Parts: sequence; C-alpha cells; structure tokens
Amino acid sequence: MNLESFTGFVKELYPGQDFVPLHAPVFRGNEKKYLSECIDSTFVSYVGRFVGEFEAATAAYTGSKYAIATANGTLALHTALILAGVKANDEIICPALTFVATANAISYCNAIPLFCDSERDTMGLDVEKLETYLEKNTWLNDKGECIHSITNRRISVCVPMHTFGHPVKMDKLMEVCNRFHILVVEDAAESLGSFYKGKHTGTFGKLGILSYNGNKTITTGGGGMILTDDEALAKRAKHITTTAKVPHPWEFVHDETGYNYRLTNVGAAIGLAQMEKLDEYLNSKRDLADRYATFFKNSDIHFVTEQPDTKVNYWLNCVILKDREEREAFLKFTNGNGVMTRPIWTLMNKLNMFKHAPATNLDTAQWLEDRVVNIPSSVR
Ligand SMILES: *Cc1c(COP(=O)(O)O)cnc(C)c1O
Repeated sequence: MNLESFTGFVKELYPGQDFVPLHAPVFRGNEKKYLSECIDSTFVSYVGRFVGEFEAATAAYTGSKYAIATANGTLALHTALILAGVKANDEIICPALTFVATANAISYCNAIPLFCDSERDTMGLDVEKLETYLEKNTWLNDKGECIHSITNRRISVCVPMHTFGHPVKMDKLMEVCNRFHILVVEDAAESLGSFYKGKHTGTFGKLGILSYNGNKTITTGGGGMILTDDEALAKRAKHITTTAKVPHPWEFVHDETGYNYRLTNVGAAIGLAQMEKLDEYLNSKRDLADRYATFFKNSDIHFVTEQPDTKVNYWLNCVILKDREEREAFLKFTNGNGVMTRPIWTLMNKLNMFKHAPATNLDTAQWLEDRVVNIPSSVR
C-alpha cells in the first residue's frame, strides 16, 4: 500500500490538525458544569456527590452489581488481586502481550506472572493453549488448589486482558478456570463499552477493573474502577481502598493495612459527565472503524475487526502488517508525516523484571508483537 494515501486519509478524518494523535480525550458534555460545582462547593477531594454517582452510573452501564472507584486502573487491579486472595509466591496467569500494568499489579502482591500466549483473532489470551498447558503441568492438592508441577507454586488467579477492547473468549475461559480452581480477575482497562455474548467485559470474573487514564475511551484525568457482583468483596474493596478506617464520628481506628487508592470528587465529576456521553462516543468510534475497514479492504494491510459474539468498543484501532520490517517502515513513515501510530507492546517476558517468570510457548504473541500497530482512534 502507498502509505501516503493512508496518512492523507487520516488527515481527512481529522481535518485541521498538523499532527493527528493516537487518542485524545474529548469534553463535550457537563464536564465544566460539574467541575464548577466541585470548586464552588469546595468538595474537590474525597467528599462530595460525584464519586457515588459515577460508581452508580458505571454499575448501571456495565450490569455489574457493584462498582468501586479508585485513583487509577493499576491500583484497581492491585486491589482486585488482593481481594481475590493472591498471596506472595502465587503464580498468576496473564497474557505476555499486555500493557505492563497487568504484570506490575501482580508484582505488587509479591506474586509471579505465568505468561500465556495470545490468539491472532482477538489478540487476547489463547484459552485452548492455556487449557492444554494446565492439563499437562498442574495438579490439585488436597486443599483443592491448583499447583504448577514445574515450579511447585500455587496458581490462584488468571487475569485475561481485553486487548484494545476486543473481548477474550470468556465463556470457555471461565469453564477452564473453574475446572482448575483458578479465580478470574479481568483486566478490562481498555474495554469499557465492549461486550462478549451481550455481557459487558469485566463482569465475567469474580472481579474486573476499568481504567480512565487520559487516553482511554473515557477519562477522569486518572482513575479506575473495580467491578464485582459479590457484596462482601465490594464492601472490602471500598474499605481497603479508603485506609481501612472503622466508621466512628471522631476516632481514628483502622483495622488492617489499608490503602489510599480513592478517586477524587474532581475526577469523578469529569467521569460522570463522560459517562453521559459514552454511547455517543462509542457510535463515533464504530463509525471510524467502519471507515478504516473500508479503506483497508483489498489492501495488503489487515484491519482488525470484531469477532462473532462480540461487540467491540474500538478503543484503539489496529492493523496487522506483513512482518516486522513492514511494521518499522509503517511506523517511520506515519510518525514522520503527521500521523501518530504506535506498535503493540513488547512481550512482558522480555522485560528485565519478568524475564525469569514461567511462560507457555509464546509464538503467536511474538507474531503479533512483530506486526500489530495502532492507528489514530480519537472520538471525532
Ligand atoms: C490503561 C491500562 C491499565 C492501567 O490503567 P491506569 O489507569 O493507567 O493505571 C491496566 N491494564 C491495561 C491493559 C491498560 O491498558
């Protein structure tokens, strides 16, 4: 493909911009109004109406019974892993092909990632490969825990991640993890607005998390959310993310080591305004994806579209190039010609801090790392 025709096409999609970013936030609703309310009322910190209303709006939209706001998505995942009972030296299954926050949150628990391969069509966890690996390399001890026979460590939790909003095959994953007594905590940081078989991502596992970083589908500046249907876990999530303080009119009593992982009223004010626009933004993103799909049709560049049974939020659109060399040429030309593009992540097992972690064969993840590039995807 003539890459000039691509950069020209993107500049027509986003007219009047010298440099088209990958994903810029848009504020077209009640953001300023709600922020003024925060300032006028002085409730800019942890007290105020917006956190509760943002949580309620998120629970209603996702169909999760409970939603607990946090300072960012990484800390939401850290909290969710604690609540799932992760202990030091546990092994936690996650894809090798993910943003580093997934694996970092595992390290915060002093646990060790067990990196799994991804599949080509969803770019997410390859459930069949995981199943085969678990069948071959694990056993259940007398407490019913899944033990990795190569390392002798307990495998307690699996963290699937819905890459760029494309859902992992969650029905099969839940079936496999249930069979091996492994809890599921979904990293749905990228997939607000994505559904698998009509159910929102992040609501299949025991817990799930969302992110509202500035480059995500909607933003709170920085923020995250924990999703769960379990009332006791929801209460504990609120408790440990708010310093584990025992309610009392004046005494400071904290009944365990808690965290200050709260979202501010200011962040939640922006988030609530963004939630009111979510459907409109998702429609805009779907329209953009349709245009890209038409543009790349009959070209030698593959544009990634949603799989059967899924509804994708098209957070970040992506293309698959022929090989690593074509990927480099594509990145060089586009970034040099006013169109921001970025490669998918370096596999986690290649990063210094994770190079000793156990892993399945990672051929497809490597194949994807060599070829996948994100292209501009902001709401228009
Ligand atoms: C954005 C993201 C996170 C973390 O979110 P923050 O809010 O930036 O901490 C976690 N996992 C994945 C896959 C992400 O893309």
